[in-house]
Amino acid sequence: MLQCTAVTEAPLSDVLTALVTMDGGPDDPSSVLASNHHLLCELGEHDTRTEHAALLSPAEVPHRPALWFFWTGGGAERLHRVVTVPWCPAVLRTFATDSVLQCAFFDRHTAPHSWTVTDPLGDLIAGPVTSGDITDDPRERPQP
Ligand SMILES: [Zn+2]
Ligand SMILES: [Zn+2]
Repeated sequence: MLQCTAVTEAPLSDVLTALVTMDGGPDDPSSVLASNHHLLCELGEHDTRTEHAALLSPAEVPHRPALWFFWTGGGAERLHRVVTVPWCPAVLRTFATDSVLQCAFFDRHTAPHSWTVTDPLGDLIAGPVTSGDITDDPRERPQP
């Protein structure tokens, strides 16, 4: 299933307040939103009655409830809330490799779990990862 494509602009004061008051939140709340004030829905495609959801910050302690941003609608019509919610307890166990993948969504999210959601934009949003080994760097070209 493809990821929901909804994007919204974070209401900075609400989000920062939630980060500062979060139990076990990040040491430097402002860094969470420093470069990108836009939030992307992380769920699989869903109907319009279901809230969009974006992870704001995991807790400092693993498996503790994380801070999520939920919204419906857009622009002036947007309704949002910022809440800490427990993680989805589901795990995907791969016996062949003896590995366990935890669902990256919150408890009681809409189907499906995170491992069946593909994110076509994820690599773009994460930014370039090959900055150190670009082969067509002009400085490395043979001089005429
Ligand atoms: Zn969504
Ligand atoms: Zn799940």
